[in-house]
Amino acid sequence: MKLKISTQIFIAIILGIIAGLVLGQSVVHLKIVGDMFIRLLRMIIIPLIFASMVSGIASIGNVRNLGRIGLRTFVYYLATTLLAVGVGLILVNLLKPGVGVALAVEAGVEQAGREVPSVVSILTGIVPENLFAAMAEDKVLPVIFFSLMLGAAISTVGERARPLIGLFDAFNGVIMKITDWIMRLAPLGVFALMAVMIGQMGLAVIKPLAVYMAAVLVGLGIHACLTLPLLLIVFGKYSPVKFIRDVFSAVATAFSTASSAATLPITKDCLETNTGVSNKVSSFVLPLGATMNMDGTALYEAVAAMFIAQAYGIDMTLGQQLVVMLTATLASIGAAAIPGAALITMVIVLRAVNLPLEGIGMILAVDRILDMFRTAVNVWGDSCGAAIVARMEGEHLGSVEGR
Ligand code: ASP
Repeated sequence: MKLKISTQIFIAIILGIIAGLVLGQSVVHLKIVGDMFIRLLRMIIIPLIFASMVSGIASIGNVRNLGRIGLRTFVYYLATTLLAVGVGLILVNLLKPGVGVALAVEAGVEQAGREVPSVVSILTGIVPENLFAAMAEDKVLPVIFFSLMLGAAISTVGERARPLIGLFDAFNGVIMKITDWIMRLAPLGVFALMAVMIGQMGLAVIKPLAVYMAAVLVGLGIHACLTLPLLLIVFGKYSPVKFIRDVFSAVATAFSTASSAATLPITKDCLETNTGVSNKVSSFVLPLGATMNMDGTALYEAVAAMFIAQAYGIDMTLGQQLVVMLTATLASIGAAAIPGAALITMVIVLRAVNLPLEGIGMILAVDRILDMFRTAVNVWGDSCGAAIVARMEGEHLGSVEGR
């Protein structure tokens, strides 16, 4: 009997954890396998976005329809991110994980000194100066911007641009085939990534930060297991239990790679193949979601900022907490979809409420492990969003192939 890829990935995670625990530091030899897997995924991201977005947007037909999908998508992104941050803030106020924590601020200053994107630069950066430079530098947002324009122009030009629709459709099909091949390697890649991560992690670092980690994890858990499933039921009319089975490979890959961008090819594959979301919707909602919709990251940044305030004995007024809520949302939009990105944009939140940037040093030790969980939630949020928008667009979702 051949196991489904999602089952294979599940087993790979368990085996990876066991291998990491048993082999300890010597698992480092497996690093090459995990690295190659991530490189394969990253190799396909830009061609995937370009091909699928152009063919998807061109098939929408009318630019007004695109506007409607866009509006629904953005309302969903913003609402879910704010809900996530709200849950995080309530929890951090209840659990008070930072009160009484001994300040240990080793590497924080250096981290805080890294280049932080300003809001203006995030906005101007959306428009590419040079498409090919943006592609070469793996800059997703400018590629999305150009693909949107190209798709819209193809559909507006109509008859004369018809050959281009065929071309991009074919290109998209071919790229999806490559994604499919890469997906078959996912169990191996996920196994290696998990083993290396567990093997290299010292468990001792977790203890002093246990309550802080609990606050983040409970918050992520509530968002992933209550808020999003509820929205999925009400607006997507989709069973969350079936849905997690359908997109499990994507969520598990997000967990082990800690990168929403690297996971994008698998997320798209799962949604189109297993749930039946059209390329038209997924090619728009998912790349944008991977770069801009990061519920887990926003929640994490808010909890971390409050934790730092508590550790430094700084009282945060309700007004300041509202500023944290807004800036954490902004910071999550600005964060790159790569491992550890939240640590960099966190500076935006800390600066907005005058908290010491060195505080970041306190949470560095457990960032990677929390990154895995928040990235899984980010991808889960993008997936739910794609299903909800697809349903609102009148698509019939349900089991297609089941893999
Ligand atoms: N690793 C996260 C992602 O790719 C971003 C972050 O929270 O650091 O979605």
